[in-house]
Amino acid sequence: MGPETFIYTLALLRRMRKDYMRLLDFAKDAMANAYAPYSGFVVGAAVLTADGMVFTGSNVENASYGLSICAERVAITKALSEGKKEFVAIAVVGRAGVTPCGACRQFIYEFGAGIDVIYLNDGKTVVKKISELLPEGFTLKRS
Ligand SMILES: [Zn+2]
Repeated sequence: MGPETFIYTLALLRRMRKDYMRLLDFAKDAMANAYAPYSGFVVGAAVLTADGMVFTGSNVENASYGLSICAERVAITKALSEGKKEFVAIAVVGRAGVTPCGACRQFIYEFGAGIDVIYLNDGKTVVKKISELLPEGFTLKRS
């Protein structure tokens, strides 16, 4: 790896870091739209598409609890319904530290094992691949 490559890589990492911080900010903002009258547990998420667009989501509860949907799945579903299917990263934020639930991990994994998941742990930003959060995630082998 030559010095140019090294500089390029650093620049790319800085840009990625900046983008991911922005994505966290979008997720924080999305918390304001959470519909959580039953638990009061508000969560926001923001997904970054491969073409640089951001779709946000907040959790939506229902009186029939089982119908409630997490912020991550709302964000991804919004993106999908606008024709976006390639995702780079998804940020998730709650008042307390949150990570995607098991259902959301599988939902994210559907769109690629390499998707970065960004969340806060004790105020520190954590970035992990969805494949780390969901080892051996389920896929349908298509032939
Ligand atoms: Zn979830």
